[in-house]
Amino acid sequence: MRIETKCIQEGWKPRNGEPRVLPIYQSTTYKYDSTKHVGKLFNLEVPGHMYSRISNPTVECVEQKIAALEGGVGAMLCASGQAATLISIMNIAHAGDSIVSASNIYGGTFNLLKITLAKFGIEVIFVDPDKEDLEKYVKPNTKAIFGETIANASLKVFDIAAAARIAHKHGLPLIVDNTFPTPVLCRPFEFGADIVIHSTTKYMDGHATVVGGCIVDSGKFDWTNGKFPGLTEPDDSYHGLSYVKTFGSLAYIVKARVQLMRDLGANMTAQTAFLLNLGLETLALRMERHSYNAQKVAEYLANHPKAAWVHYPSLKGDSEYARAQKYLPKGSAGVISFGVKGGREAAVKFMDGLKLAAIVVHVADARTCVLHPASATHRQLSDADLTKAGIQPELIRLSVGIEHVDDIIEDLEQSFANL
Ligand SMILES: *Cc1c(COP(=O)(O)O)cnc(C)c1O
Repeated sequence: MRIETKCIQEGWKPRNGEPRVLPIYQSTTYKYDSTKHVGKLFNLEVPGHMYSRISNPTVECVEQKIAALEGGVGAMLCASGQAATLISIMNIAHAGDSIVSASNIYGGTFNLLKITLAKFGIEVIFVDPDKEDLEKYVKPNTKAIFGETIANASLKVFDIAAAARIAHKHGLPLIVDNTFPTPVLCRPFEFGADIVIHSTTKYMDGHATVVGGCIVDSGKFDWTNGKFPGLTEPDDSYHGLSYVKTFGSLAYIVKARVQLMRDLGANMTAQTAFLLNLGLETLALRMERHSYNAQKVAEYLANHPKAAWVHYPSLKGDSEYARAQKYLPKGSAGVISFGVKGGREAAVKFMDGLKLAAIVVHVADARTCVLHPASATHRQLSDADLTKAGIQPELIRLSVGIEHVDDIIEDLEQSFANL
């Protein structure tokens, strides 16, 4: 099946007489015929649901759909993108370990990796992969390389294949946050990534209704090279079971669920998964329109005398253009960044003059919206860290929606006229 078809047909597959649409299994718990069966479930000897903190039939169907979209062997939905990022790393790293991460990443992820993981004893080393060789920072205690396909908000395109080569040379997995492109525009596993994570809050939901996250496992990484005892050695909380021996290519994603989701409890609810699934059904259509509209708006801004600069990976002449052609040939989603002539003050005035595009702390949904990262999502970063993350003070992040593109451009035009 093509991706457009998978968005509709994967996941819930009703049998004769069953509901056409994915049902919401609004139940925390499950009923069994014997105590013996429950024992087997808790020993992970038989598949099945134990408790909705660990798994739920509605959530499971949506996990299967996302795994199919990315081309992975399994997926786990989480309460948020942040939870997905945290679990994806905690699943393989602990106190005394280090991670090498691209410095161009989402501000929330930057905080999580830099401040909170440091408190857990995990050191994250930030490197700008366009300026320095990631490999220089790989140490004996390094457990993964991390980056975002299209960085939020700098819109740098991560050279996934190059990072995968370095990671694999050192026996490390490459974890890629694929939130902005979604699997419709880029499938990182095809370029060597081993684990993909998502904030499903963005395009996957697409309607700004539910917060969520997802971890997808390619099933291809070899965890038996001695660096990942948590996956190969006995887990005392399951009578000495080894994830690799018992679950083979599913080891990473099963461990994330039965060990970390069990213990951390950052699960997605059935109602949220139901809403997310509605969004996923139209994901391919929406990504096509977001990309088409954003391309037109980027071209409009590139020719506007009051715009200082514009950055959109698929715009000819953009610093990311060559990489976008390789990784994002169908377009680079709906997010554009640009600067208004006149710096920070003019940027704020321009934003306040918009009528259709709303000021929100969100990106990547059906409605066109704008955000000034320096005074919102990234305001906790110092000027030095702002620059490291590629955010100028006059930068406006424009998330182009799926309205008619002429209406979006007319709105920008009337606000430019006020400057
Ligand atoms: C929003 C976002 C996150 C965090 O996801 P939440 O669902 O808000 O927790 C992580 N990565 C990227 C690229 C994001 O845009």
